[in-house]
Amino acid sequence: MNSLAEEQSRILIIDDSVTSIRLLSAILKDLGRIWFATSGEAGIALAREHQPQVILLDVEMPLMSGYEVCKLLKENSDTRDASIIFITARSSMESEIQALEAGAVDFITKPLNQPVVRARVCTQLNVQRQAQALIRLANRDGLTGLFNRRYFNEMIALEFSRHQRQGHFLGLALIDIDHFKAFNDGYGHLNGDTCLSMVAQTIALETKRPGEIVARYGGEEFVAILPHTTLEDASKYGAWLCEKVDDLKIPHQFSSCASVVTISVGVAALVPSENSTIRDLINAADQALYRAKAAGRNRVVASDSA
Ligand code: GH3
Ligand code: MG
Ligand code: MG
Ligand code: MG
Repeated sequence: MNSLAEEQSRILIIDDSVTSIRLLSAILKDLGRIWFATSGEAGIALAREHQPQVILLDVEMPLMSGYEVCKLLKENSDTRDASIIFITARSSMESEIQALEAGAVDFITKPLNQPVVRARVCTQLNVQRQAQALIRLANRDGLTGLFNRRYFNEMIALEFSRHQRQGHFLGLALIDIDHFKAFNDGYGHLNGDTCLSMVAQTIALETKRPGEIVARYGGEEFVAILPHTTLEDASKYGAWLCEKVDDLKIPHQFSSCASVVTISVGVAALVPSENSTIRDLINAADQALYRAKAAGRNRVVASDSA
């Protein structure tokens, strides 16, 4: 995934005056990609499509006022996180309060002062960058860089209901490193950490179809969400992962199932029904994983219960 800090900033200008748009575009042109709209309706459509970090919104517009546009932007989950800066010719305390109450973060009065506009937009772009960095930290596991369990919980809930609506198979794989306690005991915890990271990178690298997500589920366990995947395909994926981790050839002389580090994988898949739950899917994959361990490890086992 691209680092959001490296991503180009996106700015949207919504103003019924073409002169205003030209002036603002000229002031902001080197700060990022700029879109513009001359009506609230067109502006909202552009905001949904491009999800700009900052929106400059004219208050006085025919048909839909800036306040109404702001309210609609704040009501939609795709657009509500953008920083909205109102631009207006009215410079009263009341209109400023009204703008902030509508959900704007800042307020600029016409006639436009070039350095002030730039400084305020830059401030909001920085705020947005920091918020993105925090979101990234909150969703990631510190050691492996993979998504964490918190993020997994969010995504599995979304995918479960999406697959329920669509009536499609949702696959899940639980992946556990074999004899990892013995690895730590034999080679030390720091080498254990390195091994854990290498296995995590390999799993992440091999899990790259659109919509697939791998997360660190716990200590030396990982979980993969496999959208639109049947049990048969989930099994193939699991077998492929076992092979790829084996191919790393990380020595493990304390393992009883191989001379290198290996993983066991339990997979399950179901078409979510009214009665099925996420817990059913996870339990099914967990039981399959348990059977993979009992059968000698370094293998994938498919669930027979989900
Ligand atoms: P099995 O093949 O049955 O899965 O055996 P196992 O030894 O892998 O399983 P067990 O649950 O007994 O041990 C898991 C080990 O994983 C114990 C724990 O110290 C280690 N572990 C968990 N998280 C980390 C970590 O972040 N770093 C390191 N180095 N080790 C970790
Ligand atoms: Mg206007
Ligand atoms: Mg384990
Ligand atoms: Mg283990």
